[in-house]
Amino acid sequence: MQRTFAAAVAAALFLSGSAFAQTAPDYSQVEIKATDLGHKTYMLTGQGGNITAAIGDDGIILVDTQFALLHDKIKAALAALSPQPVKFVVNTHYHGDHTGGNEAFAKEGAALVSHPNVAKRLTEGTTNALTGAKTAPAAPGGVPKQVYTSPSTVLIVKGRSAQVIHEKNAHTDGDSAVFFADANVLATGDIVSLGGRYPNIDVAVNGNIKGIIAAVDSYLKLSNADTKIVPGHGPLLNKAQVQDYRDMLATARDRVAKLIAEGKTEDEAVAAKAIQDLEQKAGANEQATTNFVRLVYRSLKA
Ligand SMILES: [Zn+2]
Repeated sequence: MQRTFAAAVAAALFLSGSAFAQTAPDYSQVEIKATDLGHKTYMLTGQGGNITAAIGDDGIILVDTQFALLHDKIKAALAALSPQPVKFVVNTHYHGDHTGGNEAFAKEGAALVSHPNVAKRLTEGTTNALTGAKTAPAAPGGVPKQVYTSPSTVLIVKGRSAQVIHEKNAHTDGDSAVFFADANVLATGDIVSLGGRYPNIDVAVNGNIKGIIAAVDSYLKLSNADTKIVPGHGPLLNKAQVQDYRDMLATARDRVAKLIAEGKTEDEAVAAKAIQDLEQKAGANEQATTNFVRLVYRSLKA
């Protein structure tokens, strides 16, 4: 039963092309585009998680690295912006579409920085809670060594600084957001994730909808009307758009919590179709909605 369910979910995910699908993209066709956020700070998009680059006078602070096979293209896109080397790579979390380029950047001299649980998950490998799909351990050279244990840390290159902020049990159990106060740019990782999808809640590593909402609340507090918010996936956002996203998450949480209070099982919660109106708002499909309800349900039960 369990296996049949996992296989069905895997097949549906493959067909739907959702955020959970693990089909290999054709990297040769990927183009890295840089969006100027002002104050020598850029959002880079290609395939995988959004990248943020802050250029200082003696080095670059990079947030996330997409996939290993895109390293050369990302490096070329950065070289077009600045001759400085990448001094720090911050990983917002462990997922491969944000950490795949780590090893190559580290080989070129960048220090890999993250919450300790990113290093732990990359070292040990992980299993997807919905599909059962396993992710193998990362190469040791791609595992962050500069881990921080306090709620936040500060990275400095000449003329620039980055505040790296941990939020507990949200998208994963090792999330960091990065705030560049001088540019008023906040890179959130997948705690904020839009563009035809809901956020993934990685319940296999103690991700939780309650933590995602708490983290988004802290990002809203940190932001003003002019803050440029780089989500883990999807287009650049402003504070009002992130407030809308927060409201969508809270609605989903409240409706699933109500079903749990009524004694509904996870399958019954899915069958209740309690968030169909949000599906359109998220631009997601039915399979994504089913997955999201399951993950909200599991995190509220945890
Ligand atoms: Zn992720």
